[in-house]
Amino acid sequence: MTGREVSRRGEYILRLSRGEDVVSSILDFCMRKGIRSAWLSAIGAVEAAKIGSYDLSKKTYVSKSYLEAHEIVSLTGNIALVEGAPFLHAHAVLSNEENECAAGHLFSARVAVTLEVRLIAFDEAIARTLDNDIGLRLLDL
Ligand code: ZN
Repeated sequence: MTGREVSRRGEYILRLSRGEDVVSSILDFCMRKGIRSAWLSAIGAVEAAKIGSYDLSKKTYVSKSYLEAHEIVSLTGNIALVEGAPFLHAHAVLSNEENECAAGHLFSARVAVTLEVRLIAFDEAIARTLDNDIGLRLLDL
Protein backbone atom coordinates (compact mmCIF):
# COMPACT_ATOMS: atom_id res chain seq x y z
CA MET A 1 0.00 0.00 0.00
CA THR A 2 1.07 3.53 -0.69
CA GLY A 3 -0.54 6.79 0.27
CA ARG A 4 0.10 10.49 0.49
CA GLU A 5 -1.47 13.53 2.03
CA VAL A 6 -3.36 15.87 -0.27
CA SER A 7 -4.72 19.36 0.27
CA ARG A 8 -8.28 20.24 -0.60
CA ARG A 9 -8.24 22.93 -3.28
CA GLY A 10 -11.99 23.37 -3.52
CA GLU A 11 -15.34 21.76 -4.23
CA TYR A 12 -17.50 22.12 -7.28
CA ILE A 13 -21.10 21.24 -8.01
CA LEU A 14 -21.73 20.40 -11.67
CA ARG A 15 -25.02 19.93 -13.45
CA LEU A 16 -24.86 18.11 -16.74
CA SER A 17 -27.74 18.45 -19.17
CA ARG A 18 -29.66 15.93 -21.24
CA GLY A 19 -27.59 14.71 -24.18
CA GLU A 20 -24.18 15.59 -22.75
CA ASP A 21 -21.47 12.96 -22.65
CA VAL A 22 -20.68 12.12 -19.02
CA VAL A 23 -16.96 11.39 -19.30
CA SER A 24 -15.93 14.15 -21.71
CA SER A 25 -18.04 16.78 -19.93
CA ILE A 26 -16.40 16.07 -16.58
CA LEU A 27 -12.93 15.98 -18.17
CA ASP A 28 -13.58 19.24 -20.07
CA PHE A 29 -14.53 20.90 -16.78
CA CYS A 30 -11.32 19.64 -15.13
CA MET A 31 -9.21 20.90 -18.03
CA ARG A 32 -10.87 24.34 -17.93
CA LYS A 33 -10.25 24.60 -14.18
CA GLY A 34 -6.73 23.13 -14.26
CA ILE A 35 -7.76 20.26 -11.95
CA ARG A 36 -5.04 17.58 -11.75
CA SER A 37 -6.56 15.38 -9.04
CA ALA A 38 -10.05 15.03 -7.60
CA TRP A 39 -12.62 12.68 -6.14
CA LEU A 40 -16.22 12.80 -7.27
CA SER A 41 -19.69 11.39 -6.78
CA ALA A 42 -22.84 11.83 -8.83
CA ILE A 43 -26.51 10.96 -9.16
CA GLY A 44 -28.91 11.38 -12.08
CA ALA A 45 -30.01 9.42 -15.09
CA VAL A 46 -28.12 8.24 -18.16
CA GLU A 47 -28.68 6.30 -21.38
CA ALA A 48 -26.34 4.49 -23.76
CA ALA A 49 -24.28 3.47 -20.75
CA LYS A 50 -21.38 1.08 -21.18
CA ILE A 51 -20.10 -0.54 -18.00
CA GLY A 52 -18.00 -3.60 -17.27
CA SER A 53 -15.31 -5.28 -15.25
CA TYR A 54 -11.64 -6.11 -15.56
CA ASP A 55 -10.52 -9.67 -16.31
CA LEU A 56 -7.09 -9.81 -14.70
CA SER A 57 -6.17 -13.15 -16.30
CA LYS A 58 -6.74 -11.72 -19.80
CA LYS A 59 -5.72 -8.18 -18.84
CA THR A 60 -8.74 -6.82 -20.63
CA TYR A 61 -12.11 -5.32 -19.80
CA VAL A 62 -15.40 -7.03 -20.55
CA SER A 63 -18.33 -4.68 -21.00
CA LYS A 64 -22.04 -4.47 -21.59
CA SER A 65 -24.10 -1.60 -22.99
CA TYR A 66 -27.49 -0.40 -21.78
CA LEU A 67 -29.17 1.75 -24.41
CA GLU A 68 -32.32 2.63 -22.45
CA ALA A 69 -32.40 5.23 -19.68
CA HIS A 70 -31.28 4.15 -16.22
CA GLU A 71 -31.05 5.96 -12.93
CA ILE A 72 -27.53 6.54 -11.70
CA VAL A 73 -28.03 5.24 -8.18
CA SER A 74 -24.43 5.97 -7.45
CA LEU A 75 -21.42 7.05 -9.44
CA THR A 76 -18.10 7.41 -7.72
CA GLY A 77 -14.69 8.02 -9.16
CA ASN A 78 -11.54 10.06 -9.30
CA ILE A 79 -9.49 12.25 -11.57
CA ALA A 80 -5.76 11.78 -12.10
CA LEU A 81 -3.36 12.58 -14.91
CA VAL A 82 -2.56 10.20 -17.76
CA GLU A 83 0.12 11.53 -20.08
CA GLY A 84 -0.46 14.97 -18.61
CA ALA A 85 -4.21 15.12 -19.20
CA PRO A 86 -7.05 14.55 -16.71
CA PHE A 87 -8.38 10.99 -16.78
CA LEU A 88 -11.62 9.83 -15.15
CA HIS A 89 -11.80 6.47 -13.38
CA ALA A 90 -15.41 5.91 -12.33
CA HIS A 91 -17.74 3.11 -11.26
CA ALA A 92 -21.51 3.31 -11.48
CA VAL A 93 -24.59 1.54 -10.19
CA LEU A 94 -27.51 1.83 -12.64
CA SER A 95 -31.12 0.87 -12.04
CA ASN A 96 -33.91 0.22 -14.55
CA GLU A 97 -37.72 0.62 -14.43
CA GLU A 98 -37.96 -2.51 -12.29
CA ASN A 99 -35.40 -1.07 -9.87
CA GLU A 100 -33.00 -3.81 -10.92
CA CYS A 101 -29.38 -2.81 -10.77
CA ALA A 102 -26.37 -3.29 -12.96
CA ALA A 103 -23.01 -2.00 -11.88
CA GLY A 104 -19.43 -1.78 -12.97
CA HIS A 105 -16.54 0.22 -14.29
CA LEU A 106 -17.94 3.12 -16.32
CA PHE A 107 -16.69 3.42 -19.90
CA SER A 108 -19.23 5.85 -21.31
CA ALA A 109 -22.74 7.21 -20.86
CA ARG A 110 -24.93 10.04 -22.10
CA VAL A 111 -27.06 12.12 -19.76
CA ALA A 112 -30.73 11.11 -20.16
CA VAL A 113 -32.27 13.63 -17.76
CA THR A 114 -29.65 15.34 -15.62
CA LEU A 115 -26.49 14.46 -13.77
CA GLU A 116 -25.57 16.14 -10.50
CA VAL A 117 -21.90 15.89 -9.64
CA ARG A 118 -19.97 16.81 -6.51
CA LEU A 119 -16.28 17.13 -7.32
CA ILE A 120 -13.66 17.63 -4.62
CA ALA A 121 -10.44 18.93 -6.18
CA PHE A 122 -6.99 18.67 -4.61
CA ASP A 123 -3.94 20.89 -5.06
CA GLU A 124 -1.57 18.09 -5.93
CA ALA A 125 -1.00 16.56 -9.35
CA ILE A 126 -1.55 12.80 -9.12
CA ALA A 127 -0.59 10.68 -12.12
CA ARG A 128 -1.45 7.18 -13.28
CA THR A 129 1.36 4.92 -14.47
CA LEU A 130 1.20 1.53 -16.10
CA ASP A 131 1.61 -1.47 -13.80
CA ASN A 132 2.75 -4.29 -16.07
CA ASP A 133 1.68 -7.05 -13.66
CA ILE A 134 -1.86 -5.70 -13.46
CA GLY A 135 -2.03 -4.33 -16.98
CA LEU A 136 -3.62 -1.05 -15.89
CA ARG A 137 -2.47 2.47 -15.14
CA LEU A 138 -2.59 2.71 -11.36
CA LEU A 139 -2.47 5.78 -9.12
CA ASP A 140 1.15 6.80 -8.67
CA LEU A 141 1.29 7.86 -5.03
ZN1 ZN B 1 -12.58 0.66 -12.67
